[in-house]
Amino acid sequence: MFDILKKTLKTGTVTVNYPKKPDIAPAGFRGRPEILSDKCTYCGECASVCPPGVIWLEEGMSEKTLTLSYCGCIFCGRCEEVCPEGSIRLTQDYELASKTKDALLTSTSRKL
Ligand code: SF4
Ligand code: SF4
Repeated sequence: MFDILKKTLKTGTVTVNYPKKPDIAPAGFRGRPEILSDKCTYCGECASVCPPGVIWLEEGMSEKTLTLSYCGCIFCGRCEEVCPEGSIRLTQDYELASKTKDALLTSTSRKL
């Protein structure tokens, strides 16, 4: 018993104070994808390769909209790989807990 206590005191704290002090994800971590709307050409390449189909392009009479849902995203990075404009990239953000599915949608639109 005394040995265990001694070892515990010697080791100290090895956990982080999450969520007060979130840990920073390492370089190369594949987290929340983000769309850089100013560069997007609405070509739909990312949507066509997304394995779970959580990116979709809608073309209305007056505008195009690209939507990405973090529900079901498997963080594979295919969207980032195929985007010819470099307008979609995976970030190091891993905090995606939400009370609603709608809060896990992101989209960008362009008028035609
Ligand atoms: S990371 Fe993969 S699953 Fe997530 S949106 Fe991109 S292609 Fe789809
Ligand atoms: S994010 Fe890239 S691949 Fe997807 S529609 Fe925009 S330009 Fe095309």
